[in-house]
Amino acid sequence: MSEILIMGNMPDKDLSILKAEFTVHRAIEISNFEKFLVEQGDKISAVATTGFVGLHNNIIEKLENLKIISSNGVGYDSIDATFCADRGIIVTHTPDVLNAEVANTTIMLFLNSFREFSFNEAYLKSGRWKLEGMAPYSRSPDNRIVGMLGMGRIGQEIASRLSMFNPKILYHSRSPKDVPYTYYKDLKTMARDCEVLICITPGGIKTNKLVNEEILTALGPTGTLINIARGSVVDQTALIKTLEDGRLGYAALDVFESEPNVPDELIHMSNVTLLPHVGSATFETRAAMGELTLNNLIEFKRNGKVLTPVPECLNLEKNIT
Ligand code: NAP
Repeated sequence: MSEILIMGNMPDKDLSILKAEFTVHRAIEISNFEKFLVEQGDKISAVATTGFVGLHNNIIEKLENLKIISSNGVGYDSIDATFCADRGIIVTHTPDVLNAEVANTTIMLFLNSFREFSFNEAYLKSGRWKLEGMAPYSRSPDNRIVGMLGMGRIGQEIASRLSMFNPKILYHSRSPKDVPYTYYKDLKTMARDCEVLICITPGGIKTNKLVNEEILTALGPTGTLINIARGSVVDQTALIKTLEDGRLGYAALDVFESEPNVPDELIHMSNVTLLPHVGSATFETRAAMGELTLNNLIEFKRNGKVLTPVPECLNLEKNIT
């Protein structure tokens, strides 16, 4: 039977499914991981991991017979997919099954930022309503100009779900897409022209700090930044600075530079909404992601095929099918 290494946590139900197909090794149960890699690394042909945990190149190098890494999550910036493809290791991820949930979370960040529900709930629960009277007004989410940084699977779902608020939608990506929204080749020009900037690109080197001080300043004192992509896409230091000195108006964030660490400055700002990276975190969507993660592994073991390879490994898949 093939041997699999599981990085991070996995629900018991998924674990039993894998145990029926593979001899399972769980990294969290291995007391001396380095020793395991040296003594048993060559037996491992598959790895199951997550977008949060990833798999470092140092470990991959020690798994001499590794053929597949199945990652739970659509973002795979924690795995060097080019490094894997060069070694003939196929990397899979879980696109599409989470589009709706991440789009819902983005809409909630958008609404909370405009209607200030967190503030209003605290106002009621702390007794201020009784003491001070009606809560202050908030801003309407309707008829806004929304700039999307990224117009892929999730970006398009966000744009579609935003339509009930009658926005004008602009977008920036490296190439134009077949969508009914206004394309901007230049991110700074789009930031200047929109009221809300929603980040929904992959993380990694190519998008690192794409939203920098210049972009945040262009978004402006009444502008709102929503980041549901990866913490690395936004320069967090510049974000804090521009919020503090009023060059940027509001932020709503699901992701951070060094999770789970969130700077105190952000925590204490009243014009900022913060979530602990829960974009796709519902029972239903996580179950669907888990199922796709397993199906990639099982398909590969049984038929030498995978369902959802990352783009870097597409050619590799052609060779194995
Ligand atoms: P996707 O379909 O691949 O779309 C990515 C979009 O980003 C495309 O429009 C792409 O267009 C654009 N893009 C890529 N590199 C860019 C660059 N350097 N500059 C400008 N635009 C760029 O991916 P998806 O399925 O929508 O997922 C997007 C990301 O969302 C994931 O990779 C993940 O990091 C994040 N995510 C977060 C959560 C959460 O819990 N917060 C959950 C799921 C996903 P071009 O290639 O033309 O540039």
